Amino acid sequence: MKDCIFCKIIEKKIPANIIYEDEYFLAFHDIKPAAPIHLLIIPKKHIESLKNTHQNDEIWLGKMLLLIPKIAFANGCKSGIDGGFRIINNCGAAAGQEVPHLHFHILGGFGT
Ligand code: AMP
Ligand code: ZN
Repeated sequence: MKDCIFCKIIEKKIPANIIYEDEYFLAFHDIKPAAPIHLLIIPKKHIESLKNTHQNDEIWLGKMLLLIPKIAFANGCKSGIDGGFRIINNCGAAAGQEVPHLHFHILGGFGT
């Protein structure tokens, strides 16, 4: 969508430190990391937020959640019994969502 910063990253019109890409999703480093590892995963379809999802987005949402641990562990989040990561989704401007294109924050690297 025009004027959407994340759509521009998808279209490679603005740069980002991309760490994963497939037909449906893109993941990249957050420009203002709030943890030692701070990644963002976005769908290549412009969905504003979880508030704007519909039943037919089931596949997008399911695939996205399944991809999160794969991306987290491939990018330094520790797996195993003492490992883990945090996911954050700000849904709506009132809840702190600054970029109106659905994304999950993946935060990790705690205590490492
Ligand atoms: P939110 O407040 O949940 O909408 O989070 C938006 C996130 O996008 C923030 O953590 C920003 O630091 C991050 N961000 C904004 N612009 C860029 C960009 N060009 N490249 C990478 N991350 C960005
Ligand atoms: Zn967008």
